[in-house]
Amino acid sequence: MNWQTLIREIPDFPQPGILFRDITPLLANGEAYRQAINTLADFARELKAELIVGPEARGYVVGAPLAFALEAGFVPVRKKGKLPGQTISVQYGLEYGKDVLEIHKDAILPGQRVVVADDLLATGGTMSATMNLVEKLGGNVVGAAFLIELSELRGREKLGNLDVYTLVQY
Ligand code: IMP
Repeated sequence: MNWQTLIREIPDFPQPGILFRDITPLLANGEAYRQAINTLADFARELKAELIVGPEARGYVVGAPLAFALEAGFVPVRKKGKLPGQTISVQYGLEYGKDVLEIHKDAILPGQRVVVADDLLATGGTMSATMNLVEKLGGNVVGAAFLIELSELRGREKLGNLDVYTLVQY
């Protein structure tokens, strides 16, 4: 599959100077979407993932079908104030300012093998905050899966020596 032809580049979104990688053409192509998820599922299966955890919103588009393919559970991580039950939260730095991510307190059993998933790895800030939440609940993060990696932002380094799989690298 020529993945790069299915990822559209949109200049100056969401701000001037940013080249946004848009995965919606890939998602709209049934065969490509299925093959992409199946490839990530092979990685997560090797790691014996019991649970997939993904941050909103594009993390759900990758994480939920990944969980389905593995017959594993899916746990959503959300922005502050969106989850209905009791939560724990973590603050993380954005390029400009800060944001807060939350997870349900009872979402993960201690020792559960977790693969975290999102559409794109840039600086790694979103995913390290997500991993932080999983680890606070006693989960065992065994891997991270993404469709896209922006290599020069060195997000992989931020995730330490975690097993990281990315389908396409720029
Ligand atoms: P990071 O936290 O710097 O690694 O940024 C990754 C997060 O920002 C992910 O949740 C992505 O969905 C989002 N993101 C950053 N840049 C892009 C992009 O070019 N396309 C799509 N999502 C992006």
